Amino acid sequence: MNFLSQPRRGQAGFNPRRDAAHFINGAFTQGASGKGWDNLCPLDGSRIGHVPEAGAAEVDAAVNSARAALAGPWGRMTVSERTGLLAALAAGINKRFDDFLEAECLDTGKPMSLAAHIDIPRGAANFTMFTDVAKTISTETFTTDTPDGKGALNYALRRPRGVIGVISPWNLPLLLMTWKVGPALALGNTVVVKPSEATPLTTTLLGEVMNEAGIPPGVYNVVHGFGPGSAGELLTRHPGVNGITFTGSTRSGEAIMQAAAKGIRPVSLELGGKNPALIFADCDMDKAVEGTLRSVFANCGQVCLGTERVYVQRPVFEAFLARLKAGAEALRPGRPEDPATGLGPMISETQRRKVLSYYERAAASGARIVTGGGVPQMPGELAGGYWIEPTIWTGLADDHPAVTEEIFGPCCHVRPFDTEEEAVSLANNTPYGLAAALWTENLSRAHRVAARLEVGICWVNSWFLRDLRTAFGGAKASGIGREGGVHSLEFYTEISNVCIKL
Ligand code: NAD
Repeated sequence: MNFLSQPRRGQAGFNPRRDAAHFINGAFTQGASGKGWDNLCPLDGSRIGHVPEAGAAEVDAAVNSARAALAGPWGRMTVSERTGLLAALAAGINKRFDDFLEAECLDTGKPMSLAAHIDIPRGAANFTMFTDVAKTISTETFTTDTPDGKGALNYALRRPRGVIGVISPWNLPLLLMTWKVGPALALGNTVVVKPSEATPLTTTLLGEVMNEAGIPPGVYNVVHGFGPGSAGELLTRHPGVNGITFTGSTRSGEAIMQAAAKGIRPVSLELGGKNPALIFADCDMDKAVEGTLRSVFANCGQVCLGTERVYVQRPVFEAFLARLKAGAEALRPGRPEDPATGLGPMISETQRRKVLSYYERAAASGARIVTGGGVPQMPGELAGGYWIEPTIWTGLADDHPAVTEEIFGPCCHVRPFDTEEEAVSLANNTPYGLAAALWTENLSRAHRVAARLEVGICWVNSWFLRDLRTAFGGAKASGIGREGGVHSLEFYTEISNVCIKL
């Protein structure tokens, strides 16, 4: 079955309507569970198509095909053969750039300008980047003294970990899924992916490009379903899976870690955050406002690295707030293909309700609502979508749920501070430790503060600027492990030491 050549239902142009399918052992299938759900478009709440739900039989088949590929052609390939295929895969994604773009925007409703700039190109780059890592792996050696004076030589070998279970979220579906599949395959593993139930399309489409690029059947498998009691849990509990890499909420991460305890399987967890931005009075105000507008509102606030707590030094507090408000109010919600669109919808009605509950609680607690706080009136068919207003508050207590809990919507609380010491203490006052953004033109302050923030990544005078060779991951409740560059070797390979007595 050809995924994109399935008959399209509904309107022509943007909005092809289509079903998803599992991708097992190189073939698309609807599976035999007979269960599934409607994939809804966040733009207008309309039905995109059907998504089949995998049961134990489909998950078994996917894991078994991944195991067979590991023992078969994929496992026997040389590094250059394997990386050559992955380069062809990246080229294949770029060749079908528009198909991926269309599918991603249909599933998420995000502006095409954003997905064309970030999601799809980075989705392809995740495959080329890690082929470079695979080609340049080096390991340690030690010469060891022995009593007979002849010595011994120790050297380390890295081999693939095996079958990797990949569980991914809906906010950057292709990008975050390939961020895991890229290094897994480059380092010789095979994968079974369970994408988010809200965004099944690009993960499915990638199966087609795997076949086009000549990746052997079984190397990349996809099963659709939900988390607990469904394909997600079946996959993480499957004894044929050697390691689990997960991006999603901290609560799901805890459940997955428990599932992985059975069989002592390693996990890599990229979890939630409640990220601060620190705006010092000595910042470049234009840059700080522009950067904070992006870090709070990009992707309608549905970015794990996004800012939800903004701390502004008192002398510039009101000026900064006024400019942030003006910027938020200039963001136009609209259709993905409209270049004037600055804001897409929330992913689902459930997520919108969750974010609105924080809007209500903030209002009930007497927050000053600087802008937003509700749902915008959208024209025509868009009225059925999951739109929400970008929202800024001030005046909430430091222990208010809107200031302490991850909301994952287009909103932030802005609070003044006086000293650097106070700013650092406020920023670190959270169980999370994913990311921070720091805005100052004082070089010494930048180094000093960055070193004290308890986060996996701290940006100075920027946000979301990523070099894929650097370590990525969260501190505290934001995750376990680091991926990116050589750091991905730790999770996607098993190291063994060879000791040779001379
Ligand atoms: P989620 O945890 O609800 O779901 C993520 C994925 O896990 C989905 O595919 C879901 O079906 C699956 N899942 C849920 N429970 C499971 C279980 N018990 N066993 C197996 N699979 C399970 O998260 P979401 O709502 O899709 O995504 C938003 C969350 O992801 C936010 O908390 C955000 O901060 C986080 N996130 C983190 C990063 C990062 O790099 N740290 C990046 C993006 C998103």
